[in-house]
Amino acid sequence: MSVSSSQDQATARLRERLQRMVGDHAGSTNPRRSDACALKSKCQTCWNHSGVVLEAKASTVHAQLCDCVKSCGLCAGSCMAPKNGAVTDCAQPSPRRVIAIINEARIPARYIDADISKFEGFSANERSQKTTLMNWFKSLVPGKSSGLLLSGPVGLGKSWLLSAMAKHLAFQGISVRYADFFQLVHELRDAYANDLADKSSLKPLQNVDVLIIDELGKGRNTEWELSVADSLISERYNGNKCVIAATNYPLKGGDQANRQIDYLRADHSATNQMNAQTFEPLSQRIGSRMFSRLYENCLCLEISGSDRRRR
Ligand SMILES: [Zn+2]
Ligand SMILES: [Zn+2]
Repeated sequence: MSVSSSQDQATARLRERLQRMVGDHAGSTNPRRSDACALKSKCQTCWNHSGVVLEAKASTVHAQLCDCVKSCGLCAGSCMAPKNGAVTDCAQPSPRRVIAIINEARIPARYIDADISKFEGFSANERSQKTTLMNWFKSLVPGKSSGLLLSGPVGLGKSWLLSAMAKHLAFQGISVRYADFFQLVHELRDAYANDLADKSSLKPLQNVDVLIIDELGKGRNTEWELSVADSLISERYNGNKCVIAATNYPLKGGDQANRQIDYLRADHSATNQMNAQTFEPLSQRIGSRMFSRLYENCLCLEISGSDRRRR
């Protein structure tokens, strides 16, 4: 699993130690020990009583163990306790695994409060879209499900939704990684440039259960950069690894879009050259290979609605 093998090793050591304690004290009862883990106490400080506290650190969401668990009379923050002669996790998934996932997920700090249960859809007229989207999300099984490709204009709340999905998956113990497309391409480019022999820095992007790509198609990328990004996507699909992506570009072009592009480009002002780009279909932005790979392997939704930021 990509999420910090060091974390897994630490957990294994902790489990061994507890296992030995269970062996040493078999039959003896500790009068000070409580029967239930603090995780069952419905603490108001943690995110949804999970034992995990979220905070914004620099530009991303960070997680740590809540004080309620740290001072737990049963597990003393280990989130594991002896039960019937064996050591079991106090909760599934263990808060320690959730924390490890969130701290590597790079969820944008501005969406720290994004909560999938509060998703209302992108527009009041598009109830069916919301249902399709949520049905897909609820049935997501890593290694089995198709991905998601969301297309729609700026300001509908796509990044909010992607962040809410990332958080929800992390709290289920599913490893996630959130990346802006522009950032992702830079990261890939740097890995290829600095680390030619061993691309271990790319492992998390390849192995994470769900890779979330926001602003797909952003930036002017070279053919080579796009082909490197395409090989990541292709590797993930060959390994049955899910991709969730959102883009501001339309999925399909069409005559009307082409006329708009021609019209705007005819006026040579910088603004209209920029505006023309917004009518380019995604396949032009990311290349037809990457586009068709995503298009074939994803639930594709074109969304409409009013700009949340202007409401
Ligand atoms: Zn506990
Ligand atoms: Zn708590």
